[in-house]
Amino acid sequence: MIKMTQAFQKVAAIRGMNDLLPGASARWEQFEEIVRGWLRGYGYRNVRTPVLEHTRLFARGIGEVTDIVEKEMYTFTDALNGESLTMRPEMTAGIVRASIEHNLLYDRPQRVYSIGPVFRHERPQRGRYRQFHQIDVEALGFAGPDVDAELIVMLARLWKLLGLTDVRLELNSLGQPAERAAHRAALIEHLEKHRDILDEDGQRRMYSNPLRVLDTKNPAMQEMADSAPRLFDFLGEESRTHFEGVCKRLTDAGIEYRLNPRLVRGLDYYNLTVFEWVTDRLGSQGTVCGGGRYDGLVELLGGKPAPAVGFAIGMERLLDLWEQSVEVEAPAECEVYVVHQGEDAQRLAARVGEDLRDAGLSVIVHAGPASFKAQFKRADASGARVAVILGADEVASQTASVKFLRAQEQGEAAQQQVPLAKLADALNNKG
Ligand code: ATP
Ligand code: MG
Repeated sequence: MIKMTQAFQKVAAIRGMNDLLPGASARWEQFEEIVRGWLRGYGYRNVRTPVLEHTRLFARGIGEVTDIVEKEMYTFTDALNGESLTMRPEMTAGIVRASIEHNLLYDRPQRVYSIGPVFRHERPQRGRYRQFHQIDVEALGFAGPDVDAELIVMLARLWKLLGLTDVRLELNSLGQPAERAAHRAALIEHLEKHRDILDEDGQRRMYSNPLRVLDTKNPAMQEMADSAPRLFDFLGEESRTHFEGVCKRLTDAGIEYRLNPRLVRGLDYYNLTVFEWVTDRLGSQGTVCGGGRYDGLVELLGGKPAPAVGFAIGMERLLDLWEQSVEVEAPAECEVYVVHQGEDAQRLAARVGEDLRDAGLSVIVHAGPASFKAQFKRADASGARVAVILGADEVASQTASVKFLRAQEQGEAAQQQVPLAKLADALNNKG
């Protein structure tokens, strides 16, 4: 039997899943504010879909033989009804499911985005977590290439808004399914010729996903990969025109890119344009954003055929890069910190706090009894610009003592007496 007095063994977070505490989350909020403003600037609207979906949505949507579906998904059986459920490993499949389910594309194309957690069972390391966050942006119902280019231009603007300079664009075209099939046949022939140098992954994938074999990091396979038939050479007129359309528009916008014929991406649904934004400043997890066109997915998931293009940004990686590249001051906990002494002053402080919030200020009223000294220490640590001091004298005279705490305002009379009725204006610099 468990004795009630037995100490509870502390529970830690699951490996690869991170807590975001106030200091760090303040940065996330700053970041998200920039991001939401940026998305509004292009007319994107928010959607939120469940974290949990039927497993077959991802098996079908992402592809049975992709890394994600083969080994990275958190999948379990719902004990209540035996259904197989999966924590979303990406957002596109869920957004497309929702758009089909609710006829979102019935009368017009849609620009949508979603921000939130996704889950992949990978080996945790810097920039690779088991719960991480994505900014997922999808242009549903647009055939491009104008929209493809707009999405990329849009990302360049985000880097600029964040003050990032060390991100570069890699671009490729995957053509259409028939072109890929012709290339696939030639590629398998090439892989068969070099069967003896393929590693285990390569052997396993050579028939199921031969394109992915070229994405190997195994140095022994590089020469084989370099000499493999290139998908680009199998593209027909239309695919080439689409790709050139994207390139021209990027040039119009002054965006540099590198053609990377080996860029394939780890999800099956892509066609035509694919791209990644990469940096050298994050070690081996250097891809901060990946995206491309997926014209077949809506139909594959049971909808009326509709073209689409989108991308996903890895938020942890982008924030890591932002932190490294740009000095960002941590925001204060509040603008005004109210200190008080004695029960009457404490009650007055609560009312003053509410009045100041009415006037649009952010206010912390010190909670609980403490010496002035201890309260001032807290006020200082909060980053507040100003302390409002209430004691017995202030209660009697219905005034507050106002003390500016930050260097740039120290020049103003260090401490002033202000009637309560004028306090909000004085603190808003309207006094
Ligand atoms: P990688 O090649 O690094 O495994 P991926 O191709 O699997 O990336 P996508 O499915 O394109 O990644 O996801 C979009 C973005 O999400 C990536 O560019 C990356 O920034 C981020 N990302 C992917 N996996 C993780 C992870 N396990 N932890 C943190 N961020 C991730
Ligand atoms: Mg991956």
